[in-house]
Parts: sequence; structure tokens; C-alpha cells
Amino acid sequence: MLTNAQRVSYLLDSMLRYREKVKCTNCGSDECTILDRKYVFTRLFECNSCHLYFRHPVERTEVNLKFYQKEYAEKDNITAEVPEPAQLAGLKETKFLKGNKNADRYSQIFQKLLPGKEKISVLDYGSSWGYISWQLIEKGYDVQSFEISKPRADYGNTHLGLNIVTNEEMLRPDVDIFFSSHVIEHHPSIPSMIQLAKKLLKPGGYFIAVSPNGSKAYRERDPFGFHKAWGKVHPNYLNADFYSSIFSNHSFYLGSSPFNIAGIAPLASSVKIKDDLSGEELLAIVKL
Ligand SMILES: [Zn+2]
Repeated sequence: MLTNAQRVSYLLDSMLRYREKVKCTNCGSDECTILDRKYVFTRLFECNSCHLYFRHPVERTEVNLKFYQKEYAEKDNITAEVPEPAQLAGLKETKFLKGNKNADRYSQIFQKLLPGKEKISVLDYGSSWGYISWQLIEKGYDVQSFEISKPRADYGNTHLGLNIVTNEEMLRPDVDIFFSSHVIEHHPSIPSMIQLAKKLLKPGGYFIAVSPNGSKAYRERDPFGFHKAWGKVHPNYLNADFYSSIFSNHSFYLGSSPFNIAGIAPLASSVKIKDDLSGEELLAIVKL
């Protein structure tokens, strides 16, 4: 959620930059189609080439960085707020079983993709204060964590005993899974995020991204939910057409929430699976 001052500055910025050239933030194409609009001046475009949905005016990297250091605090308590000490003690005691931070569904997906593997190495990319990393370590995974926001990384390192790094150069390669939950929709450069995944993954490792779902099936089922989910904090709106396009040379599985864990299996070469895509969250699993 934005404060009123943030909202006003966002609207002013959108108004002043309304006439800026519309250009896809992923592939650079200027052939784009308008899909939706908010507050008159803020528009959602689809790139006709790679099918990314993106907000215009687009995010500027330096603004993005500042926003995540200080200003970003979602009121839904899923990603960005940090708990009070007593609350945290309770969460650790119950291993985050209750509430919206439970990571069991992710661990189940990892097990389905790499059955029988002893110590699966996972990079939790955009880990916030590390509640998912912590649970994965408890479950026996070999975990690295990266977070852009220093205050959140510090919190996780101090209170959960983690080693969250804020510099991508510090990350070790040869990971089995490059995992991100609600990160790619905020990212100022999807190509650089995917490039990093390619650099750090073992050959045949999995890129897994969970995000709001911009796919057509979700928009048809819940037009209001679709409209609400893009904007200032979500400049990219991921969807099945985009992933199918950019990963056309890879095996992938695309699904949505609630995740069909039973339907997930190791991806053989050249399989392209599109499961039910009408749920609120999009799940992309790509073998890189
Ligand atoms: Zn594009």
C-alpha cells in the first residue's frame, strides 16, 4: 500500500511522463497494445512481441532502489513488514505453520521436481527478511538468500540467524533451484534477473517464480482482481503468454494457485505444460 504522499507523487510522475515513448521493458519493442488504465495517466500495455504486460510510465532503476530501501511496506503483511520480537518467537515456535508465510507448498514443489535428492540447493532470490529461507533451512535445504533491501536483510540476519546478502556478486553458483516468491513483478529488469538465474543454476536447474497472475484465464474469471494487481508496486504483470514466448526453447510448467502439486513432476526435455491458469497467483517452473 502507498501513503497519500506517495500516491500523489506517483500520479504526478505518471501525468508528466504520459507522453514518453512506450517501449517494452523486457525486449525493447515499441509495438505495444493498451490493456488497462488507472487514474487516466497510468496504463498497462502488452508487448506485441514478447507479451510482457508492463506499466507505463515505466520504473526508473534509481527510483526503484530508493523505494525498496525505505518506502516499501505492504499492509497485507505478506512480504515487507517485519514482526515484533514476541510475534517472531511465536512464528518460529510453530515453524510458520499458521498464517500466510508458510513455505510448505514451495518445499513440496521442490521435492516433486528433484525426487530423492539429498541436499537440494536453493537460492531464495528477493528473500525479504528471510522467513522462507529459514523454513527451508529447517527442512534441510542448502539455502542462499538475496534481498535488495538492507533493513530487511539485517533483520533476518539478526533475528533468524541467516546470511542474507544484498549484493548479487556474493552469490555462489551451482544451485539446483533459483526460487523467487513475489519478486519478478517488482523487478526493474526481468532480463537481468533471468540472466542471473542462468549464471547461478546448474545445467538443467530450475527457475521458479511465483507472482500475481496476469494470464487471460485469470482476467476472465476475476476482472476486478486483475485490474487491482498492477500499478506502482507491480510494474510488471507476468502471464502465461510471456513465459511461453521467452522460454520457447526450454521445458516449462505454468500453473496457478491453489497449486496443483500432484500435477508437478521433473520436467523432461521439450515439455511445455499449461495447467489451470485462472488462479490469483502464477507459478512458473522453467528448466534452464
Ligand atoms: Zn517485449
